[in-house]
Amino acid sequence: MGRLLDLGERVELVSMDPHFHDISISLYRETGEGGASGYLAHSYSGKDGVAERLDFVMRAMAVMGGMVPAPGQPGRLAFACGEEHRAAVKRLFLEACKKAPGSKVAALPMSIYDRKNDFTIDATATGSGGYRLAVAGGEGDDKVARRVDGVTRGLIKLAEMEPGAELGEARFACGTTHDELVGLLLGRALNVRAAMREAEAAAARGVLAAPSAQQQT
Ligand SMILES: [Zn+2]
Repeated sequence: MGRLLDLGERVELVSMDPHFHDISISLYRETGEGGASGYLAHSYSGKDGVAERLDFVMRAMAVMGGMVPAPGQPGRLAFACGEEHRAAVKRLFLEACKKAPGSKVAALPMSIYDRKNDFTIDATATGSGGYRLAVAGGEGDDKVARRVDGVTRGLIKLAEMEPGAELGEARFACGTTHDELVGLLLGRALNVRAAMREAEAAAARGVLAAPSAQQQT
C-alpha cells in the first residue's frame, strides 16, 4: 500500500470495484472554505488507469448528485449548500461506483413508478429545500395517501430530511433544493427496509476491510 496521504475522513468504501480490476475506492471528506464539506474519491491502487476510473466516478457523482466543484478545494466536489449530507453522499458514491467506465450517466427524474400499487409518485420542489410527494389524481384516496406518506418517511430517513408541515412533505434543513438527490433516493424510499439493510451490510464491510493505516478518524 504505497505512501499514505492525508485525504481527510473516510466516509464510505467500495472494497471491490467490479468495473475496474476489483480495486478498492474510498470516499473522503474534508472541511474546506467556509466550512463546506469537500468530497474526494481515491484509491491506493497503483494499477494503470486508476486516475481515469476515479475521474469517471467523480464526474458521475457530480451529474447524479448535482454536486459542484468544492470552493477552495481543487479536485473535490461539494453540494452547493456546502452541507455534509452524509447519508445521501454515501449512497451517491456507491451508485456512481456501480457505473461502468464509459457508460451514460444522468440524474434520475423525481418520479417513481410504484409497481405494487400501479401508480407513479412524483416529487415537486416547493422552494427553500422543501419537496411535496403526490400521485397525480390520487387526492382524497386513503390508500394513495398512506403509500405517499410511507415513501415520504423513507425519503426523510434516507436523505436525512425533515418532515414538512403536511403529510407527503419533506425538506432539507439546509434550505437548498437537491432535485438530483431526491431523484436518486426516491426509488430506494419505496423499500426503505431493504435499503437500510444494505447500508448496514456496507458499513460492516467497511469496518472489516478498513486497512490498518486508516486510523486517523
Ligand atoms: Zn443541502
